[in-house]
Amino acid sequence: MTTNVSAYAAPAANAPLERTTVPRRPVGEHDVLIEIKYAGICHSDIHQARDGWGEGIFPMVPGHEIAGIVTEVGPGVTRHKAGDRVGVGCFVDSCRECEYCRQGLEQYCVKGGTGTYNALDKNGEPTYGGYSTHIVVDENYTLRIPDGLSLDEAAPLLCAGITLYSPLAHWNAGPGKKVAIVGLGGLGHMGVKIAHALGAEVTVLSQSLKKREDGLKLGADHYYATSDPETFTALAGSFDLIVSTVSAPIDFGAYLSLLKTDGALVNVGAPEEPIALNLFSLIGGRKTLAGSMIGGIAETQEMLDFCAAHGLGAEIEVIRADQINEAYERVLVSDVRYRFVIDTSTI
Ligand SMILES: [Zn+2]
Ligand SMILES: [Zn+2]
Repeated sequence: MTTNVSAYAAPAANAPLERTTVPRRPVGEHDVLIEIKYAGICHSDIHQARDGWGEGIFPMVPGHEIAGIVTEVGPGVTRHKAGDRVGVGCFVDSCRECEYCRQGLEQYCVKGGTGTYNALDKNGEPTYGGYSTHIVVDENYTLRIPDGLSLDEAAPLLCAGITLYSPLAHWNAGPGKKVAIVGLGGLGHMGVKIAHALGAEVTVLSQSLKKREDGLKLGADHYYATSDPETFTALAGSFDLIVSTVSAPIDFGAYLSLLKTDGALVNVGAPEEPIALNLFSLIGGRKTLAGSMIGGIAETQEMLDFCAAHGLGAEIEVIRADQINEAYERVLVSDVRYRFVIDTSTI
């Protein structure tokens, strides 16, 4: 039976979010019903609720950093049981057949996968995200949250955590490697924590030195202001890996000059405008300019287990549902250290 559950939704593009109800599908053979406890606010929630990428599906219930408890399982479910602590990230299904799905790289599914919200599922029904009291998700797209992690601090790991863990793991951040994280926001602060826990020497490259103390506390070894041109002279040729979390346009040539030979500059933030780049900045030094998007289900589980083993949760500010609109404004001016998490019992 389809059930209506409470949620916060944007009724139309750019409209403030408000309390409403949305339908959740019946718990199917391989589904789990999750009582959501916390949902993180990701910058892309704001983008989509304001239809920054176009073609948004409204009403829209954002939220793809979901942590909660399983309350019911379908008859065919083997991976989870009632009472389990679980999480849901940016997608709730994928084709399961393409070469990437078969390799556990569901985030790069050639058929596009099914977003946790602002998408249509296989039956053509809109998906609604985590700013809600309950969600029904296929067991294969539901993650286990280890006991060592509190649910509120775990929620942002489902997007911000995996977005940083995946490139850091893929480009082998670890002992003996010098890693820079560009931007110390919701994404960047997780990058610092994870890169440090992986054993890399970590540098934060931030616009100013305002958050320097925080950065060092989170695990950075060094902290530089990119507004100071001296930074680019002092750090020329220093890094094995730079992960940029900023979505504002940056001078890619200048950042590439900070890489060692064979170094990589990986973008997880996406500036809206195309960039112009002198390719000599790649050729001299066999450098790579790359991108990375969240992570697959298996890697997301690996990240959660890694974070639990190292005691890494997100730095959060827990809010009530009626503070969501205010929180959006604060995210837009980077006034949060470092992730808002909605206590969904207030929905
Ligand atoms: Zn996100
Ligand atoms: Zn696929």
